[in-house]
Amino acid sequence: MLLKKFIALAVAAVFLTFAPVQVSAELAEDTIAADFAVDTVKFIDSLPVAKGKYKSRQRPILIQGAMNSEIGILVRALKNPVVYRHLNYVYIAGTYKDYPVVISRTEEVIPNAAASTALALTNFNPVAVINQGTSGGYLDTLEIGDIVIGSRIVNTSAIKLVYQPAGAGIDITQQEMLGAYAYDKNLGKFRDYKEFAADPTLLKMAESIRGFDSTIGVIGTTNGWNSNIDYINFLHERYGAICEEMETFSVAQICHGSGVPFIGIRTISNNITNGATYTPGAAVSSQTFVLILAENYIRDVLKKSR
Ligand code: SAH
Repeated sequence: MLLKKFIALAVAAVFLTFAPVQVSAELAEDTIAADFAVDTVKFIDSLPVAKGKYKSRQRPILIQGAMNSEIGILVRALKNPVVYRHLNYVYIAGTYKDYPVVISRTEEVIPNAAASTALALTNFNPVAVINQGTSGGYLDTLEIGDIVIGSRIVNTSAIKLVYQPAGAGIDITQQEMLGAYAYDKNLGKFRDYKEFAADPTLLKMAESIRGFDSTIGVIGTTNGWNSNIDYINFLHERYGAICEEMETFSVAQICHGSGVPFIGIRTISNNITNGATYTPGAAVSSQTFVLILAENYIRDVLKKSR
């Protein structure tokens, strides 16, 4: 499996850099992820803390992950990393392929992702935002480590349940999509959006990346974790969602209001429709994918437009 190769490579790279330990590719993926997350906290703590405000001649790419296990590979890929903290959110700024890149740990779930994105927009003025991380699959064909390229993002928690009288039972499929309020630059005010689309250039570049089992489709963001297969099938049929996670929609919502190009890339870390249990090590896959996406974007879009 491609993912196993990535994990083995990533762990080998980390251990070779930080400790001369024998690496076994047979280690359980979640053990690797847990160790990796702890190492990532230590790694970030060991980095120099920035003095003063972020300054860069070129606008950086912002790459986000919610958890340590979702940013471990990314922070280690930066050259000259420096740590910034805004409120309680951490950002690591450096360069990748000789271009400024900021890695952001958004923390889990919608409010954290929205807040850390807004702070990133005002403090780093990114040229584009890539949100990535783990997700739960809604199609039984999606396996651990597969990539979902989000062409559109919906918020499956932003719903209104229709009126049902007392005693009518509970049927949450009787629902309307409310969406969420985001700033509309043309109207100059906030209005409701039922979905957000990926930036077309980033989407095209993501689609052209080879070497991964990737699927283009709708990412469903939710406040909770769904384990009811009938409801998951309903969310797939009604909204087209092929996976669920807890951040992407809110990041798209904030980026949309500021006109910053955005894309969400997710890896499958669990899939209740085919019995694949939670494997946090899958986070290696989406990080590896977005490093390639960032490299291509830097080379073909950002460096060419100068
Ligand atoms: N905090 C726990 C579990 C995290 S799961 C831990 O550390 O082990 C929640 C995170 O994983 C969120 O950031 C979400 O984006 C992502 N995620 C992965 N699979 C998910 C699923 N099936 N449903 C919702 N979120 C999921």
